[in-house]
Amino acid sequence: MDELLLYVAFDIIKTKIYIAFIMSIKTKTDKTTNMSSDKCAACTGKCCCYALVDLPAPRSRLDFNNYAWYLAHEDIEIYYDDKKWYLAVNNRCRYLDENNRCMIYEKRFEACRDHTDENCEFDSDYVADLIFDDPFQLLEFAEKRFKKKGNKKTKRKITLKK
Ligand code: SF4
Ligand code: SF4
Repeated sequence: MDELLLYVAFDIIKTKIYIAFIMSIKTKTDKTTNMSSDKCAACTGKCCCYALVDLPAPRSRLDFNNYAWYLAHEDIEIYYDDKKWYLAVNNRCRYLDENNRCMIYEKRFEACRDHTDENCEFDSDYVADLIFDDPFQLLEFAEKRFKKKGNKKTKRKITLKK
């Protein structure tokens, strides 16, 4: 009986070692050859279909008005996320071919080189805290914000007078 148990235990260990070995080969193959291309092959080149630019936080009505002007243009959105502002240009890169492959891969830009397919746009459900796609929506938001700030100041003044 003891012999049988020892045999079964040995067999389980052998199987585990074998599986670990196969997994290590698979992981190596995936990382070095096909993982990114497999994922990218199934994708429509989502990461090449927009550009995101940092924006200084708008402080004045004029700042908001200028940002509203950006939004008057097609394919532009403004994101507010984690207390930061971004200009999103939702346009396809001119170097993305009809098969969603980069036509200038060897000469691609630093931003493209920095981007990996780990947690990328393909399988991410990222949504910014606020998304503006209409100039007047942004101006309305700005007015509400200034009004709220104005109210706060007024309240403070009243408090200080007491
Ligand atoms: S979004 Fe991700 S999967 Fe799609 S092309 Fe870009 S890196 Fe590849
Ligand atoms: S240059 Fe190539 S990798 Fe970079 S955004 Fe354009 S198509 Fe994509």
